[in-house]
Amino acid sequence: MIDRRVFIGDLVRLAALAAVVPNDWRVAWRPRLAVAPFSLGVASGDPSATGIVLWTRLAPRPLEPLGGMDGGRVAVRWEVAHDEHFARIVKRGTATATPELAYSVHVNVSGLEPNRWYFYRFHSGDATSETGRLRTLPAASAATPLRLLFASCQHYEQGLYTAYQHMALEDADLVVHLGDYIYEGAPSRNGVRVHYSPLCMRLDDYRLRYAQYKTDEHLRAAHVARPWIVTWDDHEVSNNYAGLIAADTSLTIDVMRARRAAAYQAWWEHQPVRLPASSDWANLTITRTMSWGTLAQLWVMDTRQYRGDQACGDGTKQVPCGEWADPSRTMMGAREEKWLLDGMTGSRARWQVLANQVMMAPLDSMRGEGVRVSMDQWSGYPVARDRLLGEIARRAPNRTIVITGDIHSNWVNELRSSFSKAGAPTIGAEFVGTSISSGGDGIDRWPAFDALAPENPHIQWQNSRRGYVSCHVSGDEWRADYRTVPFVSQPGAPVITASSWRVARGVAGIERI
Ligand code: FE
Ligand code: CA
Repeated sequence: MIDRRVFIGDLVRLAALAAVVPNDWRVAWRPRLAVAPFSLGVASGDPSATGIVLWTRLAPRPLEPLGGMDGGRVAVRWEVAHDEHFARIVKRGTATATPELAYSVHVNVSGLEPNRWYFYRFHSGDATSETGRLRTLPAASAATPLRLLFASCQHYEQGLYTAYQHMALEDADLVVHLGDYIYEGAPSRNGVRVHYSPLCMRLDDYRLRYAQYKTDEHLRAAHVARPWIVTWDDHEVSNNYAGLIAADTSLTIDVMRARRAAAYQAWWEHQPVRLPASSDWANLTITRTMSWGTLAQLWVMDTRQYRGDQACGDGTKQVPCGEWADPSRTMMGAREEKWLLDGMTGSRARWQVLANQVMMAPLDSMRGEGVRVSMDQWSGYPVARDRLLGEIARRAPNRTIVITGDIHSNWVNELRSSFSKAGAPTIGAEFVGTSISSGGDGIDRWPAFDALAPENPHIQWQNSRRGYVSCHVSGDEWRADYRTVPFVSQPGAPVITASSWRVARGVAGIERI
């Protein structure tokens, strides 16, 4: 049964859009209808060699429940073209935006040509969205080089998205977002902007939070420029949650299950992901993989949904402590771990790339005798970490690159086959990218690090500005440029390359350029 308000022809569509919105909306918004329903922008994501997912969400009034839509269904047309004027259209179709999924639209486009750029846009009624740019992946046999950007942690209140303003202008193929796309917290008075809605607990709270974040023009521009591949970390749900356990211990498992369902659904509704809508939003498998020809295999990880609780009450603790080294404690869960390791074994790509949330290399923050590490990072799950590193050493040594977010600072880390055994060899590289905005302006170097450097010989570099990381990948070399902005508390900061690093495939270690 097609809802009577899902309309089919162009002429009927105009009349029908008027029919589904109340008169006050039509009167107030009609003059701006050409742009208003697409206020949250457009996005593309999860490309394949022949297809991609296009995303938008209708929200004429983004800070109202359901984005100011009235509860009826609305047809949305989409087009993919070779040219930005849409003279040579290659694919088009119609999707239905429904209130049940917040008027979000996910279009699974197929039948495109490999390794090619296209343009896309949406129409609804007489309104047309911005035009986005997408590209498909190279064919499976192609050795095409890759320009990859990665980012994380975009607290709306703590800074402006100047880094995205610069990212949008980069010449690059893909963006990987490593989590903390939103922050769930209540409004704070201490930032440069203010969260509009209270602490996110229910579906509408999370929807409103995403909508507010997406009203930022620089974030929208970064999506328009190229496809994204997104994963999540903790703040898409709740600070430092682990499975169904919240850092706030007053929240029961039942409350967290309902909250996770709300948060995961809102995440899905606002991201250009190639995942089916779930019948059970509290559980949403988001691990997925992408092949960039013969060059790279990207593994999108989830280290939140299946992990065990942080040891020793979370925080940064001297180790060993309590259950910290219990071999049954997990970061990914058995299923994801098997998926990743079997997949790495089966992949013939020259590089294995792990899109990872929290730092894999440990940071010992205790000077001299004794070791103190974060319980929320991989250092809090030492057996699971060393098992993964040992498998990387066996399956893809010195051609595995881990890209990481979470800690609002830049780090360049050599990965050893174990961080528990002295003298273990270097078997991979971890590039930790700083935040887009979380933490505010930041500083060039964390002052305590100089004293800690001798405790952490695997750490090559540290920096605490905002920005993103730009990678040039060829068959023999992975180059990472740390792009930083000197401030985010005011608009207009320039971007600089704070440092550049190189990993030669098959060679242990990371070299500063
Ligand atoms: Fe964060
Ligand atoms: Ca985090």
